[in-house]
Order: sequence, then structure tokens, then C-alpha cells
Amino acid sequence: MGCVAAGTARNRSGDPVRGDPIGTKWMIMRTSLCRGYGLLLILTGWRAMAEEPADLIVVGGRIATMDSEKPEASAVAIRAGRIVRVGTDDEVLHAAGPATRRIDLKGRRAVPGFIEGHGHFLSFGESRMMLDLSTARTWREIEGAVERAARGAAPGQWIVGRGWHQGKWIEAPAEHTDGYPVHTRLSGLTPKNPVLLTHGTGHMVFANARAMELAGVSTDSVNPAGGEILRTADGEPTGVFRENAMGPIHRAHERALRGRSDAERETDTIRAMELAQEACFEQGVTSFQDAGSSFAEIDAMRRMIDGDRLRIRLWVMLNEGNDALAARLGGCRCVGYGGERLTVRAIKRMSDGALGTHGAWLLEPYDDMPSSVGNIVTPIETIERTAAIAIEHECQLCVHAIGDRANREVLDLFERAASRSGSGPPPRWRVEHAQHVHPDDIPRFAKLGVIASMQAVHATSDGPFVVRRLGMRRAREGAYAWRALLDAGAVIVNGTDVPVERVDPLASFAASVTRRMANGEAFFPEQAMTRGQALRSYTLDAAYAAFEESIKGSIAPGKLADLVILSQDILTIPDDALPAVRVDCTIVGGRVVFERAESGPARDGRADP
Ligand SMILES: [Zn+2]
Repeated sequence: MGCVAAGTARNRSGDPVRGDPIGTKWMIMRTSLCRGYGLLLILTGWRAMAEEPADLIVVGGRIATMDSEKPEASAVAIRAGRIVRVGTDDEVLHAAGPATRRIDLKGRRAVPGFIEGHGHFLSFGESRMMLDLSTARTWREIEGAVERAARGAAPGQWIVGRGWHQGKWIEAPAEHTDGYPVHTRLSGLTPKNPVLLTHGTGHMVFANARAMELAGVSTDSVNPAGGEILRTADGEPTGVFRENAMGPIHRAHERALRGRSDAERETDTIRAMELAQEACFEQGVTSFQDAGSSFAEIDAMRRMIDGDRLRIRLWVMLNEGNDALAARLGGCRCVGYGGERLTVRAIKRMSDGALGTHGAWLLEPYDDMPSSVGNIVTPIETIERTAAIAIEHECQLCVHAIGDRANREVLDLFERAASRSGSGPPPRWRVEHAQHVHPDDIPRFAKLGVIASMQAVHATSDGPFVVRRLGMRRAREGAYAWRALLDAGAVIVNGTDVPVERVDPLASFAASVTRRMANGEAFFPEQAMTRGQALRSYTLDAAYAAFEESIKGSIAPGKLADLVILSQDILTIPDDALPAVRVDCTIVGGRVVFERAESGPARDGRADP
């Protein structure tokens, strides 16, 4: 456990005592004792610190602390990366010395730093280094962008892009099957370059003829388990690959990348992570819950932290096969590495695909594809073994489940794991997305203590095609059913699934409370959250979902000094004004990591008018 900070109270696995994944009675007793001592140490520590002048004071505003003891304040004092005082301006000004930096909120709203509850940190950075297809309105537009890229590329060089989504186009491609494009025309435009275009959901890829040739895909190729090669009426591959069928295309691309030197790879990784971090800070994201990284990617994160190049706080779900986990998890697991910058204490699994690609695993067939109930991406027995590994290593298990069948299977699996561990449900295991849940399963989240990790912005961007896929009844009863889950007592962590959606917490906040789609209509508005619930899902409840509520998620003495200053008060302005709110300043560990210039970029990336 080389990565545990020295001098901190620990539980039996050497973690600082804040978060105790396995809930046996003696551990709870022991932990609460340790928490008591820990709290005493923290209190003594911050009192001593409070007597020294603050490094930074933030005054003159409306601060939503998310601390039930003192929910509103006007000022905060920060020293050595932690919050030392919260209160009125008068109370906090006493903490200032001659060298103290002062930020005047001028009446603006400040909130705890936003916690992205489910995103893909490295892929996000990489997506900023490839063709962005997310705003394309037609397939023809994408063909044009790819052709231009190929014209500037050397023969043989891969053209990669991300973000296409047939559900968001204003017309179907000239040649298509079920609305998905057929490769013929694009292959004709790019004969010398393999092309790999990842779907906006990440659950599908498009490949041109050259890429399929390198991947060994032909008319004779058969569908793998949990995947599908889309075909024309003549049985020819269309170039579109769903779920596990993406493998050969990805491997062909990886073979091409293998030609790079270690130094070139490292440079690309560093660049991607720096781009991801920069974009997060611009959006007020101070902590990022990464939904699946490999051992090698986590090693790269550690090196970045050691070199002081990452200041964002990462909480990472490990995504490796069961054998690799069993062999190496103990050595990789860490809590609070590098001054609370990296925690690896969770495992990621996928049970099904995405709704946008007809891959979500449903109890009944799709309304708009009656031959299919979706894809089982990982056999339940495999996830069952992962659950045993998670229990053994005191890790949270986080399972992607989108369809109602997938959600039911995962809840059943969590329940079985709980009954085997004999002491109630394994605490804070998570269902990632929990998008379409059968009404009978909604109360089970709270009952089993399972976190619903949901991305509000998915509801408003998927909304236009959800009823087509599921039909009105299923959509109304269980699609993105935040209100029903909260009313039943579940904890929800919010997020964006970046790079599937933009990493913008304010857009997801607006979606949470209005459920308003781009066309202005609200998607089943009766399922909206209140403003307070939405902010909680991005701060304190997000911290809870990672066993981090004792150090993050609220503005209170002793906690990490991560906060965000907003241009307008998201708790009181009318719904119509929410899209115009911007992040003015982001503070991580008491350091200003982003300040918006007066005429800086607006949230959608355009300059201010
Ligand atoms: Zn994801």
C-alpha cells in the first residue's frame, strides 16, 4: 500500500478511515472508533491551522455549502489546501493576514467543486485529439470531414473520429440499414486510409473497406457472442459493428499504433490527460470518477501526479479481466494517493450495451426492432466472479446496466453477493447509468443500498428517440426515472459519461431540473429533480458514491478546498436562464486552476457575444 498517505488513521487494509466498503459489524464499530479519533485529529489540526493566516479567502457571496450544519455562508477561508473557516464576511476576514489572497464574489454564487460521477478521462482527452463528429447533422457531413482528413494524411495512416449518432441526424444516410450508414461511398473516397469512427455512445464503430480488410472482416465473418456485424440485405458487412463485434477493428488499429515508440506513446497519453484536465477545470469539475481504466493507464496517471501535472482528483474504476484483477488488484489499489489525487478502489463491468445502438438488454423486444432484446456484453457468471474479487479486495463493484433486463440482472447479482457475504448488501455498489428500470426494480436500489450512477444529460439528448425504442409505457414508467428513485430513497450520482456528452455539469444540472430537450419539449418532466437534489447529485452524493463524503462534496472546515464560482445563482434563477450560466472560477485544493476572462469562452465553446 505504498500509496496511502502517512500519518492518517487507517482501517485494516491500510486505507485512511473514510469509507469502508465491507459492512461487517466489527468493521463498522472499529471504523466509527477510528473515525472518532480521525475527526478529533482533523478538528485539532484545522483549529491550529485556523490560527495561522489563511492563504486565500473568498468573501462577499452566496455560498451553498451543502453542509447541513450551515447550509448558507458568505465567505470561506482556506489554508494549506483545506477549508479552515466558513461563515459571514466578518468571521472569515479575521483569518486574513498580509499575504492572504482575496477573491470577492460580488454577490455571486459559489458551490462545492463539481464531481463528474461517470466519465472516461483518457478517452475524453484522446477525443480532443481526433475528428469530432458529435455536431454533424447528416452522414454526408461526416463523409466530407473524413475525406478532408484523408486528403491531408499519408497513405496507410488511420483516420479516427468519434461522436457520430444516427439518432441525431436530420436525414437518414443515402445508403443505410435501419438508419445506420453503409460504408460504400466513404470507402470510395478513402481508398488508401483505414477509417475508424466511434459512435457517440462508444458502443459501436464504423469502419471503411480498408479498415475491414486490415481487420480480416469479410462476408464470411460470423458474429461474436454479445456483438453483431451489421449487414446489407445481400449479407455484406455494412461497415458498422455493434458491441463485441468491434474487437477486430480496434485490434487492427492497435496493431498500427504499436509501431510508435514508448516515448511517442507517453507523449500522447500526457497530452490527452492534460487536455482532459484543462476542459474539466473550465467547466468547474474538480473531481472526476473515471468509469474504467487499465493498470497501464492508472500507472500513467500516477506518473502524471508524481510529476505534478495532474491536479484534478481522480477516482478510478479498474477495468481489467478477472484473472488480471485477481493477480494484480492488491498492488494497484490505493486511496488518496498524491495528496488526495488518486483513488483506485472500484471495479468496472459492462452487462449490456446502449439504447442508442439497440444494445441495451431489455425484458421485452425493442418497439422499433422487434427481433431484438439487445446484447449481453458480459456473461453474468463472469460478473459474479468479479463480485467475489471485489468483496475480497474491499472494492466497490460498478456495473454498466442500461436496459431494464440488465438492471434487474445486476440488482439480482448484487443481492446474491450480499446474501453470501452475510452482512447486508455490499455497501455502495453502483449501477452505472440505470437508465431503463422496471417499476418493480426501482425500490430495490434503496433497499439494497445500491447507488444509481445516472447522467442527467443523457435523458435530454436521448429523449427524442427513447419512445421510439421503448414505446410510451416503458418510457414513462422507468426511463431516466430520477424522481422515482429519489422518492424511493436511492442515492443518485450525476455526470455526463464524457466523451459521450460534453463534460459540462451545468448542462447536466439543467437537464436534471428541467428535462428539457433541444427541441424545447420536456422529457417526462414529472421525473425532474429539485435544484437542491441536482446540486447534491453533483457534490455531496457524488462524494458518497465514492466513499469520499468526509473529504469532499461540501464546504466545511477540514474538507478539501475545492470550489467553483458561478456567474449566476443556479439555485434561484428561472429555468430559462440556466443555459447561460458559466463557471467564472475553479479552485482545487485552495489554488485557482481556472479563471474565465471577461470575454472568455461561453459554455458551448463559442466566444461571448
Ligand atoms: Zn461510460
